[in-house]
Amino acid sequence: RRDPLDKERPLNANSPAARDVRHVLHGYVELKAQRESLPTVITAGEGIYVKDENGTPYIEAASGMWCTSLGFGEEELVEAAAEQMRKLPYYHTVGYKSVNPAIDLAEKLAEMAPIKDARVYFALSGSEANDALVKFIRYYNNAVGRPQKKKFIARHNGYHGATVATTSLTGIPINHVAFDLPLPGFLHTTDPHYLHHAHAGETREAFAERLARELDEMIEKEGPDTVAAFMAEPITGAGGVIIPPEPYYEKVQEVLKKHDVLFLDDEVVNGIWRTGKLWGAETMGIAPDTMTVAKGLTSAYQPLSALILSDEIYRGMEKGSLGVGFFAHGQTYSGHPVSCAVALKVLEIIETRDIGGHVGRVSPTFARRLQKLGEHPLVGDVRCKGLIGAVEFVADKKTGRLFDPSGVVARRIKERAESAYKLITRNVPSGDSIAFSPPLIITESEIDEVFDRFEKAVNDVMGELAREGAI
Ligand code: PMP
Repeated sequence: RRDPLDKERPLNANSPAARDVRHVLHGYVELKAQRESLPTVITAGEGIYVKDENGTPYIEAASGMWCTSLGFGEEELVEAAAEQMRKLPYYHTVGYKSVNPAIDLAEKLAEMAPIKDARVYFALSGSEANDALVKFIRYYNNAVGRPQKKKFIARHNGYHGATVATTSLTGIPINHVAFDLPLPGFLHTTDPHYLHHAHAGETREAFAERLARELDEMIEKEGPDTVAAFMAEPITGAGGVIIPPEPYYEKVQEVLKKHDVLFLDDEVVNGIWRTGKLWGAETMGIAPDTMTVAKGLTSAYQPLSALILSDEIYRGMEKGSLGVGFFAHGQTYSGHPVSCAVALKVLEIIETRDIGGHVGRVSPTFARRLQKLGEHPLVGDVRCKGLIGAVEFVADKKTGRLFDPSGVVARRIKERAESAYKLITRNVPSGDSIAFSPPLIITESEIDEVFDRFEKAVNDVMGELAREGAI
């Protein structure tokens, strides 16, 4: 066999990449093609850069999976983990036991969250926190005596996780097909992507109001006493960096209030300064009933997620403990002391180094470079807030006509940026969009470097498409 990346080179069967292909099951691949495609094995990282096994540095403009907010190689986080491991590597929070880092972190998150007297449950991933939330909302509605109020509404293109329940919340068709999902009781409403879903001549405001009306009609049709909750990311991340126009959330929240439907705010990507404010809820004007937080909470140095509930929901759940049943839910690693110690250090660094202020200072450069890309003949839309952004490529800039099939051009640009210019971005399933969510510590000159490299990849692919007669 030959090395698929370099056909001249015989495959070194003992290289980490070749061994990976033999035994590692990867997510988000064509399984069959995976046998022929060697992965890039990342072996080190520093600041906004990671290195592959040959020592080649790449800019990580996606923060891995939107998560390494403080960049790579942050020694203080390493120390925080090591110190906690020496002191107490593990204990749990099941039953009537607890650990100090979990107590400190819950207190801190309750203070930070825009939710009064918040109560915090810890899990290890965004999926697990959202999955626990589905169970908790069921338990809550059973406890307060409305067992029929159980449906969940989320949005097309929202991403909420990979478990059975959270894939059902997720509104991305490729996540559903062949997995027999979504489960019954999980519904999806239109995503607020103006370029894709606005009617001809519809203003942004009219579009936002129409989508809120659609949600209202959906709840009416299902029966408000059967709908428990609406889940949304303030700014949709993995599904395309979709930023709803005003007054979308104002109107959506009116609808939810009217029908006594909870707002479950997924802050897994948005949270901890990604959108320019501490929470996406703050950026987008949302008063949520619950929040799920992960990724940037530990800057991904340890797995951890937090589910933050309002006091009202917690008190409702308490009512169930006698009538409905013992609260039989818990996890081995809930409140893991090492993960919580790392999160506490992340939050301390964010305060002492004023990371929020830094995002405020550098994000205008990020926005300016994205806007500049917006002038490119292949670009139909750019979207950004804080340090999350996306650029969407279209077949016809004037009419906004999308490429058909969608996704191929974005994938090609993403791959070119990576192979030729050593820039890692994410292609996201919203037409032909590529997302950027660099570490929050990125400097202005590094932002320029990201977009200088990206523009080269865009121009390369545009030249090829023109030669192929595709544009
Ligand atoms: N919610 C959102 C908004 C996410 O982007 C993700 C992951 N990309 C999740 C939930 C699930 O998190 P995890 O992959 O840690 O399970």
